[in-house]
Amino acid sequence: MRIIKNLPRLSQKASMLRIVRIECISNGNYRITVQNNSEIKRHSWLTNITFHPNNTITATCNCDWHTRSKGHVVGCSHIMAALYGLGRQQQRKISFFATNDEAKAQNPEKILRLVAECSPYVHSPNATIYIATWAA
Ligand SMILES: [Zn+2]
Repeated sequence: MRIIKNLPRLSQKASMLRIVRIECISNGNYRITVQNNSEIKRHSWLTNITFHPNNTITATCNCDWHTRSKGHVVGCSHIMAALYGLGRQQQRKISFFATNDEAKAQNPEKILRLVAECSPYVHSPNATIYIATWAA
């Protein structure tokens, strides 16, 4: 597990991706298709977002990076894009932070934790993305 140092770059990348489709598979489980904006090299990724009790989220993505990690990394730009899309659909504004303190400093209504899939209930502060949310 490693600290997510490149979070601002990742969220910047995520904000440039677009959401093609949001499917609700079951209560708290979504399959979200994300696409790049390139006209020349169009590419789609399939993400799966699961909401657990205690404001915890796990997610998977079929991109190379996330697949190779075998559930040991928290998020990629596609997962973050999917969460932005889900937030928009649920009329919530969301913002990503590397620490709980940074998220708290924004005074959000709620802080969600995106954690690695291999240990959804083991809260490791070094392998968590904190998601501050507000009603939009
Ligand atoms: Zn990905």
